Amino acid sequence: MRKQIAAANWKMNLTIQQGEQLLNDIISKPHELAAHQLAVFAVPFPYLQMAAQKLAGKTNVFVAAQNCSNKKNGAYTGETSVEILQSVGIQYVVLGHSERREYYNESNQFLAEKLDICLANNMKPIFCCGEPFAIREANTQNEFVAKQLDESLFHLTATQLQEVVIAYEPIWAIGTGKTASSAQAQEIHAFIRSHIAATYGVEIAETISILYGGSVKASNAVELFSQTDVDGGLVGGASLIADEFVAIINALS
Ligand code: PEP
Repeated sequence: MRKQIAAANWKMNLTIQQGEQLLNDIISKPHELAAHQLAVFAVPFPYLQMAAQKLAGKTNVFVAAQNCSNKKNGAYTGETSVEILQSVGIQYVVLGHSERREYYNESNQFLAEKLDICLANNMKPIFCCGEPFAIREANTQNEFVAKQLDESLFHLTATQLQEVVIAYEPIWAIGTGKTASSAQAQEIHAFIRSHIAATYGVEIAETISILYGGSVKASNAVELFSQTDVDGGLVGGASLIADEFVAIINALS
């Protein structure tokens, strides 16, 4: 059975005190995670250790970094390696968020390097892809997303690919309040899975979790997550509100 995941992306929000309070509020509320369901919290770097310690021992709950270096270690001022993340108990990292692609010029090739270093060191990537509005308007989103997958992921072995969680996030839906309809989400998630199947085979493609991201909230999560090829969500704004994120965790079907 594929993993279903509710992943919170705090981005550059909250102080550490507010973040700790938010985690306290979330874990104190009733939430249910079946054996194949995970909650992941992608928090700012300085909060990773606090979050990892607070959530240690909670079954199927993990902390993620929002980025990592493409280098192993050394003279790269300001960068954070996979090894450093692991030394504070981190097992997941978000890679290729559209904000990093846009504001920090992260290319598909550069992300391939980050994926390689993660996978060589047992760090699980949550790899983001998704098209801008102009591409959706031109109805070329499948080609756009296929290129992102081809150039960043498709050099991986099947075993490596199975460690990757894919997050499809249409850029026009991130932080805008506009959500892809559940039919739009299902259509492109099915395309992503078929594109993986064309290279790696159906059996492998069926094991890959594909999350939807873009204005997911408590009120639309059940509908989105009930789609056959939607295996949960990567959630920005709504993950900063305890009641909202707990409802999103509980919407994993
Ligand atoms: C995100 O940060 O990846 C995201 C999808 O944000 P939001 O839920 O606020 O649209």
